[in-house]
Amino acid sequence: MENCIFCKIIKKEIPCEKVYEDEAALAFLDINPVNIGHTLVVSKKHFENIYDIDEDLVAYLAKIAKKISIALKKMGASGTNITTNNGEVAGQVVLHYHIHIIPRFEGDGLAPWPTRKHKEGEMEETAKKISSML
Ligand code: AMP
Ligand code: ZN
Repeated sequence: MENCIFCKIIKKEIPCEKVYEDEAALAFLDINPVNIGHTLVVSKKHFENIYDIDEDLVAYLAKIAKKISIALKKMGASGTNITTNNGEVAGQVVLHYHIHIIPRFEGDGLAPWPTRKHKEGEMEETAKKISSML
């Protein structure tokens, strides 16, 4: 936590371009945006990712992500991608829970994720497995 860059931003030890703040959350522009307007919403309290953060707080941050999506749409975005990377294998670099809100524009050239096919029976089996783990 001492070396967490987002905790440092929250404590105002390093600057950010703030778009929203309240007692529990902060939203600011991503320093390396995928598209202009790319915003991060973070919890003020340090949690690493989806696995340890309080579920009510996730819901609260999702509401802020919705508000920011609407603001970006009013500014001319045609859509948004809202995403969280959980774990290094998923591309999480900053280990402080955050939601990315990425504005999308017609013809912005950002490719969708590649997809794959299920093997015979794999889809049904996978759904049952996930369901049994909830
Ligand atoms: P993730 O890969 O999901 O952990 O995303 C971390 C994001 O934080 C990246 O998109 C970075 O560009 C962004 N980032 C890292 N340092 C800063 C900073 N000081 N201010 C704003 N955004 C940052
Ligand atoms: Zn932190």
